[in-house]
Parts: sequence; C-alpha cells; structure tokens
Amino acid sequence: MTSTPVHEAATDGAARKDFIRQIVRDDLASGRQTAIRTRFPPEPNGYLHIGHAKAICLDFGVAQEFGGWCNLRLDDTNPAKEDPEYVKAIQDDVHWLGFDWHSLRHASDYFEVLYLAAEKLIRQGDAFVCDLTPEQIREYRGTLTEPGRNSPWRDRSVEENLDLFRRMRAGEFPDASRTLRAKIDMAAGNMNMRDPALYRIKHVEHQNTGNAWPIYPMYDFAHSLSDAIEGITHSLCTLEFEDHRPLYDWCVEKADLAHSPELLKPLTDKGYPFEAGKPRQIEFSRLNFNYLVMSKRKLMALVQEGLVDGWDDPRMPTLQGIRRRGYTPSALRLMVDRVGISKQNSLLDISILEGALRDDLDAHAQRRMAVIDPLKLVLTNVAEDFEETLAFPNHPKDESAGTREVPFSRELWIEREDFAEVPPPGFKRLTVGGDVRLRGAGIVRCDEVVKDESGKVVELRCTLDLASRPGMEGANRKVKGTIHWVGAKRAVAAEIRLYDRLFTVPDPDNDEGGKSYKDYLNPESRRVVAGYVEPAAATATPEQSFQFERIGYFVADRYDHTADKPVFNRSVTLRDTWATKG
Ligand code: ATP
Ligand code: MG
Repeated sequence: MTSTPVHEAATDGAARKDFIRQIVRDDLASGRQTAIRTRFPPEPNGYLHIGHAKAICLDFGVAQEFGGWCNLRLDDTNPAKEDPEYVKAIQDDVHWLGFDWHSLRHASDYFEVLYLAAEKLIRQGDAFVCDLTPEQIREYRGTLTEPGRNSPWRDRSVEENLDLFRRMRAGEFPDASRTLRAKIDMAAGNMNMRDPALYRIKHVEHQNTGNAWPIYPMYDFAHSLSDAIEGITHSLCTLEFEDHRPLYDWCVEKADLAHSPELLKPLTDKGYPFEAGKPRQIEFSRLNFNYLVMSKRKLMALVQEGLVDGWDDPRMPTLQGIRRRGYTPSALRLMVDRVGISKQNSLLDISILEGALRDDLDAHAQRRMAVIDPLKLVLTNVAEDFEETLAFPNHPKDESAGTREVPFSRELWIEREDFAEVPPPGFKRLTVGGDVRLRGAGIVRCDEVVKDESGKVVELRCTLDLASRPGMEGANRKVKGTIHWVGAKRAVAAEIRLYDRLFTVPDPDNDEGGKSYKDYLNPESRRVVAGYVEPAAATATPEQSFQFERIGYFVADRYDHTADKPVFNRSVTLRDTWATKG
C-alpha cells in the first residue's frame, strides 16, 4: 500500500502563497503537525457578513487544501445576545459558500470541561475568586502607562477559592457580585494579562443549556480551550486578537488539556473523540470595504429602525443579503483570493467586490433581453399576426451554453432611452428618420412617433428593412447603433428592482460633525420599475443570474420570483458607474 503525505493532497490552494499557508506548509514539512485542523467560530448574535466570508474561505479553504478538516463552532458564551435564528442562518451561509464542516460544535458543549479546567487552575494557584465590583476592577486595572493593583482577594486559599467557585456555580450569588480571575500579573504591559476574568455570574437562560449554568466563561478562556479540546492546530482569527494571544497561550498551557484526559471525561463519556491538542493562534487582517458598514451592531440598527427591509435586504452586506442581490459563492471566493491574506488592515475599494462579481457573471451568466423602461415600437410593414422565433446564443464566449428561442413580432418593446426625438450630439441610436439595428433581428427606420395628450412619446412607427434580416444579403449593412428589444406578444411583465449602493459616501462610518452612517443612506439605493423580459428569462429558477444585455447583471429573486410574475434584482451594473461620479 502506498500512502500520500497529507501536504501533497493540496489542491489548487497549493498555488496560494500567503503567510498563513506558508506556516501550515512549514508545520507539515517539519512534522510539527501531521494533520491540519481549523475551525470557524462565529458568535451567533447576528447574521454573517462579507467579512466573515474571508474567514470562512480561509478556515475551510486551508483545511481543504491541506487534506485536513474544519469545524463549525458556534461561540455561544454570551447567552443574552444569541439566538437560534442566527445559528440556522450561519449554517446556511457556510453551505452556500460551498463548504462543509467536519463537526458542528458549540462552545456550550464544553461548559462542563471548561468548568473542570477552571477548578484545575484554582488548584494550581492560577485563578482566584474576586469580590471586587465591576467598577472597582476597572479602577484596579491601571492604565496603559500605569500598572494595576492586586485585588485584595488575590491571595485567598485554594480551599476558599474552590468553595466560592462551586457556590458561584450552584447559583448562590447574584449577577456580577464575584468573578473568577486568572492570577497572572497586574503590572503586565499587556492589559489583557492583568488578572483577566475567566468566569462571570449571569443568571440568564441559555439556548442550549437552559438554566443549568448561572456562570458563563469569558471569551478568552472559552475560545482558547475550545480550540484545545477540538485539537485545532491553527486557530486563525482577525488582528484585534493579537493582544489576546499571550492570554490564549496562557490558558492553553495552564489547562494542558492535551495531557488531561480526566478533564475531557464529560465529553468522552458522551462519545466525543479525545482530540485535545495545543493550538496555535495566527492573526490576519479584517476585510473592510468602503461604502459599507459591517459591524453587527450597526447592521442590527439598520434592520430594527426599518432603514432596510431586513437582514436579507439585497442592499445589506450580510451573506443572506448579497446572496439575494445575486452575488455568487464563486464571486466571493474570487474576491477573497484577489484580496489575499496579510497582516495589513486596510479599507478596500468596493470595486474589488463588484469587479469579482462582474467577472464571475460575465463568464458564467447566460444572456437574456429585458427592457426596464419600455417604449413600444411597431413594425408597420409586416403583417398584424407576424411572429417568428430567432435563435440567440446564450453566451457569446461559450458555445456549450447553447442557444434559445427569442420570439420576434410586429410589436416590440425597446428601452425609452434608446430613442431621442431631438438627439444629443453623437447619439447613435434611434431618431425620427434614422435607423438602428435591432439586435439579431434586422434594421429598422423610424418613420413617425405617436404621442399622448401630454406630448409624451408612446409609440414609434417603424419600417423593418427586410433585406437586412439575418441570413439576407443586406444583413451586414452598416448602421451606427444596435439596441436590444423584447417581442411584445410574448413579453412577460416583470418587476425589476434596481439596487445600488446603500451609502452615498465611501466612509459612512466617519463621525464627522456628529453625523452617523444613517445620515449617508442613498435614497436611490432601490428603485422598483415595471419592465418586460423575454420568455426565457421569465422561466428562470429563483437565484438564477443573467446578463440582461446592455443593462446589467440581474438575478431572479430568491423568494418572490415566479414564471408568471418574474421579479429580478439588479446585482451589479455592467460597468462601474461610480468611478466617474467623482
Ligand atoms: P463583528 O465585529 O462584525 O460583529 P465579530 O468579529 O464579532 O464580527 P464573530 O462572529 O466573532 O464576528 O466572527 C467569527 C469569525 O469571523 C472570527 O474569527 C472573526 O475574526 C472573523 N471575522 C469577523 N469579521 C471579519 C472581517 N471583517 N474580516 C475577516 N474576518 C472576520
Ligand atoms: Mg465577536
């Protein structure tokens, strides 16, 4: 039997050269690690956003590329803010991005183990129960320039600490009256090492553990030990945790779960494998784009104040929102690859995100014709009942996408802006007395316009040049412009939602002049129009994307679209129209 070293199992990721993958490669080459295990650890207190897509692609991607695995772990140590609704959406989002987890875990699965680890720390003299109030703890903590002071409760005996901690667990004390703190160094330059809290008292029901626990572990303690419990080798997180790394390492070292099977018994008794190890935390920069806000708190405010239609509003940067907008998993993965992984925090231009979507849809979305601001065009020189179908390629650069039948008839819809009664200089489309090519159908000349009482043009009466029809000898006759159209007889009326950026300024988060991001909402971020689409667009399945020729990329709405009442969302325009707005 031959065996392949794990690191050779790498797929296309082998080409990715970022510093994290280099560390992983080195760890495998040196034998420091034999299998790669990562985790994606969202807190279920909101919906995932575009930033999380970077973490997901990295956590799951690295595991996949190096033949390892990645857990999805819900970091549910803050029961007051968490909700099962989010848990469901998070799983949906990870799957949608194209990843699957080795095991679905919750930090709360480990509460018993974490509790035993805390008792171990107490017995080692590494933790103590502190009776200072939250304000006092803040006072004792010192500042960046001044050391802190030891808590008067720091030197309690192991017995007293154990007794008090057990009574905290038994629910004997009110919220916030005591904490369990690590005994490290109140003079440490790194504030996180100044006897940080490990447990707090909180009489709150938890969505998984109910009322079993009146105490909850703090983030640093729960996170580091959850990684250790699962045998995570590389714990990838964003840069704001860099200052927490010494505490992370301290917790892992002091609890030493890899050599403490007795602490893992509550899990192994339930059938969990013993996997404990010594994880290594590595930080990378957060993904931030201009024209967006990404903090969960601000997104929550937009939803709660009704400034958007919900978490899955297509203008929201949540994965549920951009999915509904028409973003594809492959566009997001492309964006993450283009952005790369580094330790440099920066605000990226939104055109990187939109560009990845355009490139992905340009390559993969089929073409259709749709008219979003319809004006009727009548071919006066063909019979009343004239009707035929024309074969159109579904994709100009991909023959394998095949062709479709596009109905052409005496009456057509064209885009109102493709006609001008008084053409501006350089206008290449239809004018009175002028001619234009109807995409794939022939050349028409406009003879006459029909207006309503208000003087608005409601109909163009045109002559179809029969010699210019496809396959005829005049088919290549040169005209200045080509426009798209939809055959009125078979056209399907469609609701078209024209989405645009939610904010008008690149930095909606600036606090200048007491303004908030809510002051920069773009009133034009959604316009709903009634248009027409060709039958082969109407029959789209929800979430199917198209390029509507000359207009932009659109997606059939995930929830509202049906073949009878099509609803399309504009995902992105064909070109970046913001770049030129200045
Ligand atoms: P927010 O600050 O938006 O509320 P968070 O950091 O609190 O986000 P978590 O649920 O704790 O969100 O995040 C889960 C994982 O996703 C963490 O590892 C976190 O570092 C990562 N992550 C969150 N936001 C970003 C981002 N903008 N770019 C890259 N990774 C991110
Ligand atoms: Mg968080």
